[in-house]
Amino acid sequence: MTGRGLPRFRARQIFQWIWQRGAAGFDVMTNLPRALRASLAADFRIVTPAIARHDVSEDGTQKLVLRLHDDRQIECVYIPDTPAQTFCVSTQVGCAMGCAFCLTGKMGLVRNLTAGEIAAQVRVLAEVTGLRESAFNIVLMGMGEPLHNYDATMKALRLLNEPDGVALPPKRVTLSTVGLVPLIDKLATEPLMPNLAISLHATTEEQRAAIVPPSTKYGLHAVIEACRRFPLSKRSRITFEYVLLSGVNDTPADARRLARLLDGVKAKVNLIPLNAAPGIPFERPADVTVDAFARILAQRGVTVSVRKSRGRDIRAACGQLIVEGGRKASAAQALAAALG
Ligand code: SAH
Ligand code: SF4
Repeated sequence: MTGRGLPRFRARQIFQWIWQRGAAGFDVMTNLPRALRASLAADFRIVTPAIARHDVSEDGTQKLVLRLHDDRQIECVYIPDTPAQTFCVSTQVGCAMGCAFCLTGKMGLVRNLTAGEIAAQVRVLAEVTGLRESAFNIVLMGMGEPLHNYDATMKALRLLNEPDGVALPPKRVTLSTVGLVPLIDKLATEPLMPNLAISLHATTEEQRAAIVPPSTKYGLHAVIEACRRFPLSKRSRITFEYVLLSGVNDTPADARRLARLLDGVKAKVNLIPLNAAPGIPFERPADVTVDAFARILAQRGVTVSVRKSRGRDIRAACGQLIVEGGRKASAAQALAAALG
């Protein structure tokens, strides 16, 4: 604005229009002079992803497929009352990490999202759900590995934190990562530090390497050590996500090892019974197995919850986010390139 010879407060007005009031064009910005609106419209575009598809689950979960400016598609999800209102947001088109049970991983990485594209999902979800004026939480648990798109993800959190915009406090954000150790350490230095969730999924190095490919570079124990170093405020804890795969990592011995592994870590465990899908070579364990696993953890003093799968009927549940998009390099090549 100052470059255009305009007062600085114009920038704030425009920012407020876009991020607080969901303006999709300059014409609605009625507190700007008419001539300014016209000149901005001639020179700029407010890029808002288009809603290509909107599904509503019988449990109230809503899934949006968004089309980006280059026709790539991503998914984001609104999960009501869990207990807060939660928006699950993507950070990449696809994912390079290739976890054996995840459909997004099967896509490979198509491209990173920009900070604007990550934050815009919140803008669109807030609009669609009518929650613009309400408090909501954000989980970076959609498509992609947020730490593999580190700079854009952090910039999106800064954008969303702006007092003239969504004013989202970092306490309301949870970043879920497969465990890229150097970037967990970097995250620990961020002024706007989100809550941390680690996708652990296994209790031995061999077991984890078999289902979480980045584990061959950043092993289970290295991830736990990074968590021990991670600064936490008094009452907060790290969430450890653990997808339960029938007959693979769901035995009582696994549960006991998991409790031992987390000994002395300020942790809570979130068990996620696998959402099965064609092409995923694993099965969801029976409910009694899940309960037994949870009970062993609880008996050993570990705080544990079982994630209720929301929106499975519209393929909006964990690991079910996938859109058209081909994988060019082989999975192994792509992962090697991603991990550097
Ligand atoms: N890439 C990040 C965040 C996205 S995945 C990460 O992996 O943490 C969000 C969560 O969904 C992760 O814990 C992931 O392991 C889990 N998930 C992936 N596929 C799943 C499936 N088929 N069933 C249940 N959970 C799954
Ligand atoms: Fe990527 Fe997370 Fe899926 Fe693994 S579970 S492939 S890291 S999105």
